Parts: sequence; structure tokens; C-alpha cells
Amino acid sequence: MVVVVDTVSATPLRPRHPEKVNRPDAFSPPKPDWIRVRAPNTRGYAETRNIVKENGLVTVCEEAGCPNIGECWDKKHATFMIMGDTCTRACAFCNVKTGMPGALDALEPEHVAEATFKLGLAHIVVTSVDRDDLADGGAEHFAQTIRAIRARCPATTIEILTPDFLRKDGALEVVVAAKPDVFNHNLETVPSRYLSVRPGARYFHSVRLLQRVKEIDPTIFTKSGIMVGLGEERPEVLQVMDDLRSADVDFLTIGQYLQPTRKHHAVMRYVPPDEFLGYEKVAYTKGFLMVSASPLTRSSHHAGDDFARLKAARAAISG
Ligand code: SF4
Repeated sequence: MVVVVDTVSATPLRPRHPEKVNRPDAFSPPKPDWIRVRAPNTRGYAETRNIVKENGLVTVCEEAGCPNIGECWDKKHATFMIMGDTCTRACAFCNVKTGMPGALDALEPEHVAEATFKLGLAHIVVTSVDRDDLADGGAEHFAQTIRAIRARCPATTIEILTPDFLRKDGALEVVVAAKPDVFNHNLETVPSRYLSVRPGARYFHSVRLLQRVKEIDPTIFTKSGIMVGLGEERPEVLQVMDDLRSADVDFLTIGQYLQPTRKHHAVMRYVPPDEFLGYEKVAYTKGFLMVSASPLTRSSHHAGDDFARLKAARAAISG
């Protein structure tokens, strides 16, 4: 039996996932060699960590237990998670704490902008917890954060990774009006796995959200991603690609699901690197401008370099 406690925040004895505590343990197969990553202990990592802490910020890199944190933070790439560290959803794959979040911090947009400046980021990725408790799902806070970064760091390009704003009419429009350079919303898995992996969400709502972004502002790049190894079949992954292309999504990411604790969904399979390569090839034939598919692909991994390639790919098509 595993006791799931909070090992990330300052209150370690609160269960991090109260809704999962009584679930039976789910066992995953041992990790293959291609999943192993180096421990984070470089100087760049320590500097990034200091800037994050000094500004009182939360990162998805830490909260989600991302395997790339050593590499990314060494290069001063961090993904900020706004609106607190507590999520109103309880997805079976996610290590972000579940519960009722506190009030929004009105100064957070400025702090994110300041940290972006101090890290010297050419491209910043901002994500958030789900805030189903807020009337607008946190849309205005997202917009304020985008505007604060633009004001402090005008040359920095901005990528946002948003929740689905389910049942929050008008929220998406508020975020899009703030003009992020990249709008990312992850589908996370194939539709047949939603009930057990992402029960609070609706597959077609998420696809439609991405489609709406392009309808409102075709200049914004759209991006989405899924994890594999959650029990999906290959034809289902290919169908997701078609659905995303129907929604005019530009950039697809596919990475291996890793189990945060035994109370989370089990890894059903470690997909070998050559299968990721196969997915990447098929996705390009379906018309995505950019595809990143590998075991350690995460939606914000190498986001700055990928954004430059994304712009170049669009420019090449428009001649
Ligand atoms: S891949 Fe994204 S979430 Fe993971 S460490 Fe890098 S920036 Fe953070």
C-alpha cells in the first residue's frame, strides 16, 4: 500500500490526492532504458530554482514531476503554473494537487513577468490548474498574465497551455483577445480512454476549443498533445490526428505517459522510440506544421526552439 502524501508543497502531511487515497495500487512495468533521465544538480538548475522561489511562483515542472526538469532548468526553461497549486479536477494521470484552490493572487501576473525577465526567456510557456470554481475559469487572469509579460518583455513570445474552460461561456474569447503567440490545449488521450483517464473533460469540447481559437484569430498557432501508454490503440491515435487536423491545429506533441504514484493510472505499455518515429511520420503526412513525438516529449519541452521552427514552417507554406 502506498500512502500518497504531498511531497512538493510546504504542508507535506495533507494528502495530495484525497480522492485517490483509497484506490487500490496500480502497478506499472519497470521503466525501460530509453526512459531514464539524469538527476537535476547543475548550476543552471539551481539558478532557475532560485528565481522561481524568489518570485513565489509555482511550476508545472515540479508539480507534475516532469522527467525533463534537469535538462530544462539547466537551460533556464521553466513552465509557470498560474492560479495556485491546487486543481479542481482529478485526472487519473496528473500529479498536481487536487482540492479547493484559494483566491487568485492579483500580483501573480507581474511576478510571472518579472521571472520571465530575470530568466531572460525568448519564449515563455504559462499553464494553469483547472479553476472550475471561478466564474470565468480563470480566463481574465490568463489574459492579465499575457499582458503583463508583453509589457515587461516585449520581445518574448508567449505560449499558453490552458484548461478546457468547460461550461465557461465567453472565457476562451477573453484569452484569445490577449493574443498569445501559441495557444495549446492538450487532449491528453484518445476519446475511448477519457472516462478512466480524464473523466471531468469532454473530448469533442476540447477539439472544438482548439478549432474556435483559429476561427477567432487565425494568426495564433494552435497546439495539442496526447500521452501514449494509457491503453490506447494505434488506429485511435491516428483518429485523434485527423480530428486535430479538422480543427486546423498546427502542432502535435506525443509523449510517453509515466505514472506519478501507484494511486494513478498504471502505465499499460512503454511505447518504443521507433513507434514514436512512426507516429511522427504519419502526423506530418496528415498536414501538421510541426510534430514532436518521442518518449520524453512534453508539451512544453523545447517549446522555444519548436516555436521558431513552427513560424518557419508557416512562412514556407505561405511563400
Ligand atoms: S518539459 Fe516542460 S514541464 Fe517538463 S521540465 Fe521542461 S519546461 Fe518543465
